[in-house]
Amino acid sequence: MGRRALVTGGTRGIGAAISVKLKEAGYDVAANYAGNDAAAQAFSNDTGIPVFKWDVGDYDACAAGLAEVAEAQGGSLEVLINNAGITRDGMFHKMTPEQWNDVIRVDLTSLFNMTRPVIDGMREAGFGRVVNISSINGQKGQMGQVNYSAAKAGVIGFTKALAQETARKGITVNCVAPGYIDTDMVAAVPENVLQSIIGGIPVNRLGKAEEIGAAVVYLCSDDAGFVTGATLAANGGQYVSG
Ligand code: NDP
Repeated sequence: MGRRALVTGGTRGIGAAISVKLKEAGYDVAANYAGNDAAAQAFSNDTGIPVFKWDVGDYDACAAGLAEVAEAQGGSLEVLINNAGITRDGMFHKMTPEQWNDVIRVDLTSLFNMTRPVIDGMREAGFGRVVNISSINGQKGQMGQVNYSAAKAGVIGFTKALAQETARKGITVNCVAPGYIDTDMVAAVPENVLQSIIGGIPVNRLGKAEEIGAAVVYLCSDDAGFVTGATLAANGGQYVSG
């Protein structure tokens, strides 16, 4: 069996593509999800990837879930992909504390909740790969997404700091910052808004989840051992042209 890997939010959208790409690359993959049992079960049936339900915003649930995954995989994680994320959009002057707190908890605090319980095992092993999924909107800010932009910018800061702490232990920590990718999250964007977004993407299309999966597989590879603290932007040229 290959290296033990876990993808949070690994049953749908970008996370599902990451799970599959890692499996194809030979990893022993587990996928976490929040509550959509039907989607998770269908994904598991299709791919043969085992699925585990817990809320990445809850530290104790993460510690318990990770212990369950370690038991199933026969050892502690070598590769962690912090992908799970949500949006609760609204203009700031109408944003509620609940919208703010939900997004910070699931999109940013989850990185602490998930990475803290596995970091000792990676340090002891002298090897680890942590890849965090940020967003172009964390790099440039997006109106209507003050909460999400703040969380995703925080993901980049988390990555840069932890990369420095762990480098000598053989653990790399990197980000992928996708632009607009064709998933359920983007399907929630109104059609007219989406068309104007696509018009601002130089490659003139949405990205594919598989394209993000391929970027993650690279960052997990032995070939990427000298890449740490980096943010790999996969956005069809949108950031540099905006
Ligand atoms: P989807 O909404 O398609 O899928 C989200 C996944 O995360 C699901 O598996 C979901 O589980 C899981 N999830 C949500 N909340 C939690 C939670 N509290 N605990 C555990 N799992 C959870 O999202 P995308 O694939 O579009 O996005 C994946 C990541 O990529 C996110 O971090 C997002 O911010 C980021 N991103 C997405 C972009 C896009 O264009 N789509 C662009 C840039 C970044 P369940 O099925 O049970 O709900």
